[in-house]
Amino acid sequence: MSIRTCYMCELEATSDEHAPPRCLFPEQKDVPDGIDYRINLITVPSCEKHNSLKSHDDEYLLHVLSGSFTSSHVGLTQFITKVHRAFEKAPSKASSFIQRYEPILLKRHTDDEWEQGAQVKVEAERLDLVLGNCARALYFHETAQKLVGPVQVITAFTMYLDAEVQANITSSVDTTKAYFASHPPKGENPDVFWYKFDEGVNTVTFFMCFYSSSEVLVMLNKREQP
Ligand SMILES: [Zn+2]
Repeated sequence: MSIRTCYMCELEATSDEHAPPRCLFPEQKDVPDGIDYRINLITVPSCEKHNSLKSHDDEYLLHVLSGSFTSSHVGLTQFITKVHRAFEKAPSKASSFIQRYEPILLKRHTDDEWEQGAQVKVEAERLDLVLGNCARALYFHETAQKLVGPVQVITAFTMYLDAEVQANITSSVDTTKAYFASHPPKGENPDVFWYKFDEGVNTVTFFMCFYSSSEVLVMLNKREQP
């Protein structure tokens, strides 16, 4: 009898890992109009190490994405329900998030009015870890193949401090978006998450979108596998 192995390693799978993390999808009790955003979520087989050990990083991704100024009303609903509950239950999570928070003024592009907002210095390594693993899981879901080598993550919903790096990021994202324009988005809860992907000889590229406008590019290297 063959055993089911983890999407990231050769250990036996003991659970199912959600891609992206399930905590991003609102529970029905938190949605005023009762929409079910947890229809047909994507899961892949996972060992203990590659699933439960990263749950804090999954939650961190939720905190950053749902509270982002690019977040849609669905993301903001998650922020004022699930994230607030988590912060109330474990205030240390809130304080470590808020310590990296500074008030700023933001200009709304709808009517050019200024409103108060905040900028948060994100923990890029944690975001890259979760988003990279999400792309690996989606690749396994699509092809039943494992890609566990190097990964490059570009988060278009964050601002990079170096203006030149920021300009390069914006240009890569625009080029990739144009390339993917005719690819239909995948994912059954597109108000929370959708993705597009393309496989070349050496690289697999994922274009992912969270809460309608927080965009992420992930490149997986097919050649450099351990
Ligand atoms: Zn594993």
